[in-house]
Amino acid sequence: MADEKLPTRKENFAEWYNQLVLKADLADYAPVRGCMVVKPYGWALWENITAALDKEFKATGHVNAAFPILIPLSFFEKEKEHVAGFAPELAVVTHGGGEKLEEPLAVRPTSETIIGHMYAKWIKSWRDLPVLINQWGSVMRWELRTKLFLRTTEFYWQEGHTAHATADEAKEEMYRILDIYADFAINEAALPVIKGTKSNTERFAGAQITTSIEGMMQDKRALQSATSHYFGQNFSKAFEIQFVDQNNTLQFCETTSWGLSTRMIGAIIMTHGDDQGLVLPPRLAPIQAVIVPIFKTPEEKAKVVEVADRVFKELKAAGIRLKMDDRDNVSSGFKFNDWEMRGVPVRVEIGPKDVEKGSVVLARRDKLGKEGRSFVPQAGLASVISLLLSEIQASMLARATAYRDANIHNPKDYEDLKKIVADGWAFSYWCESNECETKVKEDTKATTRNIPFEQPKEAGTCIVCGKPSKRKVYFARAY
Ligand SMILES: [Zn+2]
Repeated sequence: MADEKLPTRKENFAEWYNQLVLKADLADYAPVRGCMVVKPYGWALWENITAALDKEFKATGHVNAAFPILIPLSFFEKEKEHVAGFAPELAVVTHGGGEKLEEPLAVRPTSETIIGHMYAKWIKSWRDLPVLINQWGSVMRWELRTKLFLRTTEFYWQEGHTAHATADEAKEEMYRILDIYADFAINEAALPVIKGTKSNTERFAGAQITTSIEGMMQDKRALQSATSHYFGQNFSKAFEIQFVDQNNTLQFCETTSWGLSTRMIGAIIMTHGDDQGLVLPPRLAPIQAVIVPIFKTPEEKAKVVEVADRVFKELKAAGIRLKMDDRDNVSSGFKFNDWEMRGVPVRVEIGPKDVEKGSVVLARRDKLGKEGRSFVPQAGLASVISLLLSEIQASMLARATAYRDANIHNPKDYEDLKKIVADGWAFSYWCESNECETKVKEDTKATTRNIPFEQPKEAGTCIVCGKPSKRKVYFARAY
């Protein structure tokens, strides 16, 4: 498990990531190429992510439901941009029960079509609106180049689908959800994401506006970490989602959709991980603290285990997510490496000397070595650890924010932009034309990430063509 070292991030970031996912016991490769098996430790992390988000969705009036995984293929033909965007990635079922199906069925790549079909049936009057439904599940997109958590053929996510009476309400919903995603990323996952609007070419297939949160990974590439879309009436016209308004006139609904997936786990790994392994933000860590009793002789063991058991009970009672590592077939050194690989925020070491002194050793995962070690009395340990977990959470966010800010630059000219995006993000004015965006992509492989909501007051000129420009955009190479 943790007996072999990872390649360093500097040596080979991609390989560091691949091996970390396996060694930290988060996921494994499935027999079908491109699919992943999320292992219990990875799933526990996902469960903490889902719990935090689900709470916020419900607090803002959303309810959960479940729609089928199979969708009539013809549904995808109804919205022309949507079908163009998803056709190459569709997995299609042609046979069932040993017979060829009359109509092939798509394995859902996303559920706008099936949910739109059902909303057309359910929504009749302005009194039925808004409809605010979320679904937790998985989807399938036939990806050619896959990477665990970042891009897999089947992945887990939530998809929210809402219908509203007016465009303003639908847009408000899109932004409300984006705020929930950003707050989650920043406060729970310690990811300093940037909120903004996607360019026309980076928009979701069928959307009028796509907004996203974008994070910087340690290799300085960008990762789109969640998206929230406004569809206008594109889907309601395609699926005839209509309602009678208060003046008795038949109107089309305004709809949105929004999603956050297991990709978030990839973002956490690549933002916080180090050469020893995973570093998890305490608020999401499945195990927040691990107790490692240290002893050599049976006499020492008896004393140490007694104290460790008592400490375990006290910390557990204080609500700390906890693990006792009482394995007797591996050394303490092995255990330290193992929990470091899995990113547990705090290690509590208890040895014979600690028993005598009435103390323990605390070791922080985010600060390895002497700097992160402290000797703490056993009395009052639960509150000390709770405080330490908050401090680690804040410190991880601060570190990631400083790293991000140190690697975003304002290019002087186009040549400068080319240099910057080779190893960082460029933040510059752009005329919002497809031509200039395409040129940057062809010259540098960098794409527009998003146009942030926070903009400078003064206007400028496009970094590519020199035409007047009102808004700045982030250019970066992305996952
Ligand atoms: Zn331009």
